[in-house]
Amino acid sequence: MENQTSVTVVGLGLIGGSLCHAFKREHITVKGVSGGKTIEKAIGMQIIDEGFEYGEMREALRNSAFVFLCTPLKDIIARLSEVFECCGKNTVVSDVGSTKSVICKTAEKYLPRGAYFIGGHPMAGSEKRGIENANPYLFYDAVYVLTPLKNTPKKAVKRLSGLLSLLGAKIMVLEPGLHDMIAASVSHLPQLIAVLLANHLAGKNSDLYRNLAAGGFRDMTRIASSSYDVWKDIISTNIGQIGDSINDFQNRLSHLHSILEDEQALREVFEKARRERHTIPRYSKGFLKPLFDVRVSVKDRAGELARITNVIYYHDINIKDIEIVNIREGEGGILRLGFSLQNDARKAAEALEAVGYGVVVVE
Ligand code: NAP
Repeated sequence: MENQTSVTVVGLGLIGGSLCHAFKREHITVKGVSGGKTIEKAIGMQIIDEGFEYGEMREALRNSAFVFLCTPLKDIIARLSEVFECCGKNTVVSDVGSTKSVICKTAEKYLPRGAYFIGGHPMAGSEKRGIENANPYLFYDAVYVLTPLKNTPKKAVKRLSGLLSLLGAKIMVLEPGLHDMIAASVSHLPQLIAVLLANHLAGKNSDLYRNLAAGGFRDMTRIASSSYDVWKDIISTNIGQIGDSINDFQNRLSHLHSILEDEQALREVFEKARRERHTIPRYSKGFLKPLFDVRVSVKDRAGELARITNVIYYHDINIKDIEIVNIREGEGGILRLGFSLQNDARKAAEALEAVGYGVVVVE
């Protein structure tokens, strides 16, 4: 008999460990498959009910309603056929790999009758790795892309979406190729450009360049510090889409070069970019809709944050995001509060104004 609430997670690193942790908080039975030392840690952290080493995967998959493959991309691809051999009827198998086409094509090839495969990519994570950094709230409010196969029944997608929604994830269903095309444009190409920009500086053999490259240059190249080990599999499993994005970008660079003396054409390029940037959600993880912001002028004094959140709590309004901006010692600064509803933002602003705070609503 299939256990409707039993989940098996394979590869208990940052993402796999966080899934275990989050499921356990929802009182779901979790079995973990990983290396021996990792399993020991997971048991110590009480984020799995039972642990198995990779050689015991067959046993771990038996009677699981859901299986999540959370190892590196190439390992997920290599493991799919074995997982399908071991899982039972009606099991929904998913993965968390950052590219989706190769994984979904491989799954299509090996998927047995009666089991289901749905690719997954949580838009959550960090530069940190390993089970030590597992966080049960990692998926809260994060977009979680699901990429079903052409013949995956809707009821299987609904089952998986329902499970992940328990963790606070916002489900977005996409075709695998579209996911990879978007990822190439908004994540993979920017990563490569950041790497090239940093190397452009490395090519200058005077420290004067480095000393003057503060501010904007540092901001633009922040992601250039990422390790190639993280990107190796992502690039090799999305070469086609990344190649297309590079071609497109190369054309834009050539065009830019050709209009350097044409002030009107350059102005248009800048204005188009400014308009486009305004349409990008600011304070959201992944593809989420933007939040409605309230900016509050605050004093640099003890308990200020508590006073403000208490006023909002008293009016039963849910704060979605909070950020202290520009606080200078002795002078105070701005507190940014994000709300998912425009009405909540307005209510919060009125409540804070009523007790004397200077407030701006940004809509
Ligand atoms: P991670 O913290 O390094 O965890 C991966 C785990 O997989 C390791 O803890 C390791 O556990 C196991 N593993 C099995 N074979 C491995 C191998 N050959 N090399 C390294 N580890 C191996 O990585 P992660 O950030 O959780 O990423 C896991 C997956 O999530 C990847 O497919 C990635 O594309 C995807 N993803 C990551 C992020 C992110 O920001 N981190 C976001 C979205 C999706 P054992 O030592 O116990 O075997």
